[in-house]
Amino acid sequence: MKDWLLDLFFPPKCIFCQKLLPDSETMYCSACGHGLPETDEIRPIPFTKGCRAPFHYRGDVREALLRFKFGGRSHYADPFAAMMAVKLREVNADLITWVPVSRLRRFSRGYDQAQLLAEAAAKELNLPCVSALNKRHRKKQSRISGFASRKANISGAFTAVNPEQIKGKTIILIDDICTTGATMGEAAYVLHLAGAAAIHGAVYAIAKNR
Ligand SMILES: [Zn+2]
Repeated sequence: MKDWLLDLFFPPKCIFCQKLLPDSETMYCSACGHGLPETDEIRPIPFTKGCRAPFHYRGDVREALLRFKFGGRSHYADPFAAMMAVKLREVNADLITWVPVSRLRRFSRGYDQAQLLAEAAAKELNLPCVSALNKRHRKKQSRISGFASRKANISGAFTAVNPEQIKGKTIILIDDICTTGATMGEAAYVLHLAGAAAIHGAVYAIAKNR
């Protein structure tokens, strides 16, 4: 559909407060823009150069992520990725990939939210987006308490799709959120074993490490 036609039927709304946006504003309204929990943190994660994020996981940022993941707002991938890309401009990467959900999870949700973010970020940064990892279905991470048992649950969960496309490459590894970093660390480990030269993590929101 043409942009003006899309705007007619789906007028752009602030991704945080969901109010209609004035023509002068994109992604989010100026009122929301003033209170966003921005961060410059680069969270240390094994086998990566750290994980960057535009935001802390709280308030409106958290609510928007929940709508993106569970409320069918898959089009939030574009604004989220645009904000993530700001944090990635200084990274000299060869390609972008993502921490995948299992095929079963993707089927039940209809999309892989990290893949949508990776594809949108790749467009922003003018880099190729590559499916580099597969994931087997495991017990839901949020239903398991404790770092050690979460780590055990994902151990061996990922496999490299095609190590040849990873070897010697500097890679941006995308996910939607980073909490303990265990999942991203596991995915990065597999990329590392496949011969990646460097791995830079990036998420939309970074949560407190409980
Ligand atoms: Zn707003």
